[in-house]
Amino acid sequence: MNTVALESSATEVHGWGRTVPARTRLTPISSPADAQEALRSADGRGLVPRGLGRSYGDAAQNSGGVTLDLTGLNKVLALDIAADPATVTVQAGVSLDALMKALLPFGLWVPVLPGTRQVTIGGAIAADVHGKNHHTQGSFGNHVRAVELLTADGEIRTLTPDGEQAPLFWATIGGMGLTGVILRATVALQRTESAYFSVDTDRCSDLDDLMQRMSAGDDAYTYSVAWFDAVTRGRHLGRAVLTRGNKAALAELTPKLRRDPLKFVAPSFGTIPQVFPNGLVNRATARAFSTAWYRKAPRHQVGALQNITQFFHPLDIVRDWNRVYGPAGFLQYQFVVPFTASDTFRRCVEMIVTSGHVSCLNVLKRFGPGNAAPLSFPMPGWTLTVDLPIADGLDRLCRALDEEVIGAGGRIYLAKDSRLSADRLRQMYPRLDDFLAVRRAVDPEGRFTSDLARRLALTSPVGT
Ligand SMILES: Cc1cc2nc3c(=O)[nH]c(=O)nc-3n(C[C@H](O)[C@H](O)[C@H](O)COP(=O)(O)OP(=O)(O)OC[C@H]3O[C@@H](n4cnc5c(N)ncnc54)[C@H](O)[C@@H]3O)c2cc1C
Repeated sequence: MNTVALESSATEVHGWGRTVPARTRLTPISSPADAQEALRSADGRGLVPRGLGRSYGDAAQNSGGVTLDLTGLNKVLALDIAADPATVTVQAGVSLDALMKALLPFGLWVPVLPGTRQVTIGGAIAADVHGKNHHTQGSFGNHVRAVELLTADGEIRTLTPDGEQAPLFWATIGGMGLTGVILRATVALQRTESAYFSVDTDRCSDLDDLMQRMSAGDDAYTYSVAWFDAVTRGRHLGRAVLTRGNKAALAELTPKLRRDPLKFVAPSFGTIPQVFPNGLVNRATARAFSTAWYRKAPRHQVGALQNITQFFHPLDIVRDWNRVYGPAGFLQYQFVVPFTASDTFRRCVEMIVTSGHVSCLNVLKRFGPGNAAPLSFPMPGWTLTVDLPIADGLDRLCRALDEEVIGAGGRIYLAKDSRLSADRLRQMYPRLDDFLAVRRAVDPEGRFTSDLARRLALTSPVGT
């Protein structure tokens, strides 16, 4: 859990990285009327919506103010199977896990899935999440057909991508909960014959080999992602395991799998206990893990059938795996730089690998075109994610990486961030003023705010 009840009316909440906890009035919301009442009674410290708390930093918490727990808004409201594409309308607290389980029996598929299913629809929209298929399908916001938003004036507005209030719709996509509370959303779906994937795997001997293979071959696959070794230096720096795949058609399944092709396979091996005072991730364990991960992968394998958990969400098998980093927590650094900045990208990988900071979960992807949302993270380019345990000198490394990213015209992902400054945000997000103009118009007093918003100067009231 990412929350701890305290003796007073305050609750301690934190993000998935378990850093920067906040004391806040965590208010359960189970109806739109609850959300309107919470808005009416919030004081000058304001309020922020929260889903399942899978953002890593301080986006879904409001120290000293109100944090709305939206997970009680958990109903699937309508399914239009006859439409093309089919659509589903859900309350914002429905998790992707629950939604996938509800849709699969109908042969329907959520078009964009992040690396965990334990994310709400509201959180997926507010962070405009991406998956392994960004190069072919874009981010979550591209598939949202309508959003019902409770705004600071107490009104509930229906927003669509091309409607009269399109600027507010797009500011809400990726808007980190700062335009209001998403109460429900209608999302376009894809059809699928099975819950399995046909997956090709390649071991790549170094970073150049990996980038060359991805550039040359990703377009042939709906999904593509690489895990890379962030410990090994020298000749094999950036060696990686590249997995790419497509949804498996019925005809591709084995006779056994064909008997129940839409079965949702999601085993759980329990929870990591809170027993790691200094964390488990250090240079020795990271080296052992990285070597084992690389070696266990097939050198070259074509057409392996994998289920949802194997292909998409291996981390969901163990609950609360973030505890392995111990009480100090960890930071996830995710950045993107344009394809033209591949030298910068290589330099950043080298800086991480040679920094003395260790990371085991290192993901590399290629993004396709971004969308109209001013705060959306994805843009065409290389994106990289590393999980770094909190340690001395980490901020220095991250600041040096920020410089490289800014110099190349790239940005870092707010859903993962807990440390960026307001001036650097401005350098990374060229459409920031578009976002601020919409936000100020819809919430001139800055009632929707969060620790992240204050840190990044995203909600200062008009005139300040
Ligand atoms: C293991 C793991 C893997 C991940 N992999 C990926 C990945 O591959 N791609 C990716 O893009 N992200 C990834 N993430 C990040 C995650 O998808 C996002 O942080 C997502 O926003 C979390 O959703 P949540 O419901 O937990 O929202 P929270 O973390 O609770 O909130 C996130 C933001 O959404 C806002 N919000 C939440 N609900 C609402 C609402 N109803 N109305 C308005 N605003 C709302 C909050 O205010 C906050 O700003 C990963 C996270 C983890 C832990």
